[in-house]
Amino acid sequence: MHKVVEIRNLSPSTYVLRLERNGFTFQPGQCVNLGVKGSGVNREYSTYSGINELYLEFLIKEVKGGTVSTTLRKVEPGSEVELHGPYGSFVIEPQKIETSRFVFIGTGTGIAPFHSFVRSYPKLDYQIINGIRDTSEQHDHQDYDSSRLTCCVSRENWKGFNGRVTDYLKQIEIPLDKVYYLCGNQGMIYDAYDILRNAGVSGDQIFTEAFF
Ligand SMILES: Cc1cc2nc3c(=O)[nH]c(=O)nc-3n(C[C@H](O)[C@H](O)[C@H](O)COP(=O)(O)OP(=O)(O)OC[C@H]3O[C@@H](n4cnc5c(N)ncnc54)[C@H](O)[C@@H]3O)c2cc1C
Repeated sequence: MHKVVEIRNLSPSTYVLRLERNGFTFQPGQCVNLGVKGSGVNREYSTYSGINELYLEFLIKEVKGGTVSTTLRKVEPGSEVELHGPYGSFVIEPQKIETSRFVFIGTGTGIAPFHSFVRSYPKLDYQIINGIRDTSEQHDHQDYDSSRLTCCVSRENWKGFNGRVTDYLKQIEIPLDKVYYLCGNQGMIYDAYDILRNAGVSGDQIFTEAFF
């Protein structure tokens, strides 16, 4: 069991759930099953915090009408949540951490595992392409090196790229020597995968994690 330390609201829809770590170990990019204690309903959430941090954190979007994402937001600090795991293989192989160059493509809270990568591996050579609807969804963007972050905003006019991550990928020259991680909704993952493959990126250089 892990106690809730804090719920940090980032926007009307999104929050960071901070839990006591209690010695829990994981590889950045893995997920856990989380739920309110005794509710019997759990959902998967990717680790958001780094492996060397004191607490465990998760970046969660409250889905309208959703069961777990809405109830977790209401838990009081000090109360316990149920946590199982870690699970999954959306991780970086240790020998590649300091030798490969990475492109992380995530929509919405799909940026969560990349936050864990960046917090865990200070020497990582990465670019993040984050697809969001409006600028209120620039969650914790100060945690990334600004020269490594491209934000694609699809439903608000702003100073940066206007459109979806897939629109952005279609406009740039795709580097063929990088390793690609895609995370978020399935539609984006399918489309981005096709764009990368058609550009000549080998399938074994593309890793995916679908949230829904
Ligand atoms: C491997 C994995 C890792 C995940 N990591 C995260 C994470 O780090 N952060 C996070 O916020 N979610 C994450 N999810 C999604 C999460 O597990 C839940 O599906 C989500 O929180 C909705 O659960 P719920 O019980 O509130 O809604 P439910 O009662 O299950 O139903 C909500 C409906 O909304 C859809 N839905 C699910 N997620 C979204 C979304 N983000 N936006 C719009 N519709 C959605 C579902 O398909 C479902 O039809 C992850 C999913 C997987 C499979």
